[in-house]
Amino acid sequence: MTFENLNILPAICQALKEKGYVNPTPIQEKAIPFILEGKDVFGCAQTGTGKTAAFAVPILQLFHTKQLTKKTPGIKALILAPTRELAIQIGESFTDYGPKINIKHTVIFGGVSQGNQTRALQQGVDILIATPGRLMDLMNQGFVKLHTIEFFVLDEVDRMLDMGFIRDIQKIITKLPVKRQTVFFSATVPPEIKKLANGLLTNPVSVQVAAVSAPAEAVKQSIYFVEKQDKKDLLKLVLEKENINHALVFMRTKHGANKLVKDLVKFGVSAEAIHGNKSQSARQKALEGFKNRTIKLLIATDIASRGIDVDKLTHVINYELPEVAETYIHRIGRTGRAGEGGTAISFCATEEKTYWKDILKLLGNVVIIETTPKFNNVRTLADTEPERKRNFSNNRRFSGKRKF
Ligand code: AMP
Repeated sequence: MTFENLNILPAICQALKEKGYVNPTPIQEKAIPFILEGKDVFGCAQTGTGKTAAFAVPILQLFHTKQLTKKTPGIKALILAPTRELAIQIGESFTDYGPKINIKHTVIFGGVSQGNQTRALQQGVDILIATPGRLMDLMNQGFVKLHTIEFFVLDEVDRMLDMGFIRDIQKIITKLPVKRQTVFFSATVPPEIKKLANGLLTNPVSVQVAAVSAPAEAVKQSIYFVEKQDKKDLLKLVLEKENINHALVFMRTKHGANKLVKDLVKFGVSAEAIHGNKSQSARQKALEGFKNRTIKLLIATDIASRGIDVDKLTHVINYELPEVAETYIHRIGRTGRAGEGGTAISFCATEEKTYWKDILKLLGNVVIIETTPKFNNVRTLADTEPERKRNFSNNRRFSGKRKF
């Protein structure tokens, strides 16, 4: 299957080729034809499946074929996303996929002053990508009118509800025309998501790829049981042993992320934190540094990490396990994207063992494997003795890597 087989315009196919997309991913193969037909779509897909292109490509195509930009002025497509990072990434996707499609799009999100955003809106926008809070704010100030909307996309709806955006979303919906095409994406479908979708979609087509309980198969997973105070030493050891030069590291708290950055910098490892307490420009700077590989480790909290899209990210490290098992799946979905291989390494302290149990329940019979044969050879306590003496000056111990 190719994008040409899906009847995608040559100009868009060319742009996709330049991005290195040869074949559509399963969610793209399933969703694109329905969106092109004008149907409402309910998509169940986790991040990393290619869901952004699954809606951005057909929307760009419909803009072109329906000559939407030549119709009455006003915003024709609204994309709602939970985080600024995801919103920015969606904006970049529209730029990447449609350089030859003559549309104007802009991204609006909170945490920064609104001047640039309102100026862009005043100059006229065809596609608006927004986080719900800032959108509501700018609607209330009269900068955004939604009565011309023809396409409405809600991305990562489960995360938007987690973040408390339900009221904003409900208010935004009341301002949309009834006659529109709606595309709804969520990684999980608890009852409240179903209810929201039922109220929003008209005769929707359901498209689904691997449920949230099925992490990307391409990701090799491994776990270390280690005491909390030994994690930073273990991290250093794992980076060296596995020759890791670029990894996204997950923490549960902002404070923990800041502290780990300090420890790593002491070790001489370049690292930056990305979380909600950082200013938007600091977050962007950290993300850019990570993407262009001047920063080796990006230390992220879960909310901040949504929407981080780093091409060919090879390693995800769960320095702290998440409290909610599904979050583990989202985290490791940052690597092994669009069919490429990846490695997820997790550290589990005694007090995190219940989290690990929940994760294992969700993973079912997925095999957690050693990531390098080297570790197979050395990972007994006795074998690691000399190494630990070298690396653990104060004689702290970690229990070694366990195989499942
Ligand atoms: P998403 O789920 O939209 O966040 O996309 C996950 C990753 O897959 C991103 O890095 C995209 O650039 C990439 N991607 C999306 N579609 C394709 C495709 N058809 N072929 C290769 N990579 C893709």
